[in-house]
Amino acid sequence: MSPLRPEIVVDDGALARNVARLTEVAQGAALIAVVKADGYGHGLVPAAGAMRAGGAPWLATATPAEALALRAAGDEGPLLCWLTVPADDLAPVVAAGVDVTAYSLAELAQVADAVTRTGRPARLQLKVDTGLSRGGAAREQWRGLFAEAARGEAEGRWRVTGVWSHLACADDPAHPANDAQEQAFREALEAADAAGLEPEVRHLANSAGTVLRPSARFDAVRCGIATYGLDPAPGHTDDLGLDLEPAMTVRAPLALVKRLEPGDGVSYGHTFTADRPMTVGLVPVGYGDGLPRHASNRAQVWVGGRRRPLLGRVCMDQVVVEVGDGAAPGDEVVLFGPGDRGEPTAQDWAEACETINYEIVTRIGGRLPRRHV
Ligand code: PLP
Repeated sequence: MSPLRPEIVVDDGALARNVARLTEVAQGAALIAVVKADGYGHGLVPAAGAMRAGGAPWLATATPAEALALRAAGDEGPLLCWLTVPADDLAPVVAAGVDVTAYSLAELAQVADAVTRTGRPARLQLKVDTGLSRGGAAREQWRGLFAEAARGEAEGRWRVTGVWSHLACADDPAHPANDAQEQAFREALEAADAAGLEPEVRHLANSAGTVLRPSARFDAVRCGIATYGLDPAPGHTDDLGLDLEPAMTVRAPLALVKRLEPGDGVSYGHTFTADRPMTVGLVPVGYGDGLPRHASNRAQVWVGGRRRPLLGRVCMDQVVVEVGDGAAPGDEVVLFGPGDRGEPTAQDWAEACETINYEIVTRIGGRLPRRHV
């Protein structure tokens, strides 16, 4: 075995199994696997390949550039993107057969312009805002958007393939916004129907909505975090038997081992001071590789067969951890992983850092090479 270097290991089989599992959970709704932001840090192209292998009929990205990167890598299946800006040239996206999303009449005009230049009808999805107050047409614009979309469809400019929206509070199943958004979405679908639109896919649910709210599944579900094996609604999913497998492990060798004496301060600002003789190790991964600096003195790693604390501040390239007396340079340190050996998980890091598991995995990268197994 070659000596260990700092790396991100992604278990592509776990991604595929998570997709298969979520497909069962979705009970007939088509799975749209969300691979934006470099596949939530797992690698856009390989993660997308693993999701397709697991049976995902659809993929989705935020930006057109991400969608085009998938096409360039050979993905030819149904693919949605939703975050365009006025400066985007949508012609290559339309030409690549990617479903583009429009929120407004201005975006319809942008798609129409791309269609004129490519000579190919677009695949168009329409997004309505049902209460997130983020992307999507506001309620008073629904009718105008649908009417203009129907007119463009009749003129052969595009096929309206989808109508969709996004939930604000799906990870909090008792939140009243869930019912309100679902109701608003049903009203939007009625308005689309009244305009003569017959979309192939109507979708509202993210991962949490998919697993916790069967009524929100409609024709398709857009799952991101759960496909990576992470809990979409911590505290609410324990009884569901989801059996998701976290796919990402971040590990590194100890670069150095040293003894500290009582009173020795550790790392910038000496926010940790040894209160006894102790053995510490240097882990060559830092905030330049995406570790949150907020993990300083909070998170734990797995070394020598047990969890050990981070000591002092996370630096740009390295962090100091407590280790056992027998530790030696080259020993494996798992920062986080699936948790099956007892190592901390991305969820543990999220809790230690007062953030969400999404941010932990999505930020990881920087100089760390990613290895897919
Ligand atoms: N749909 C949209 C519009 C999103 O922005 C996201 C991610 O934030 C998702 C779906 C997937 O959400 P989740 O990762 O919670 O499943």
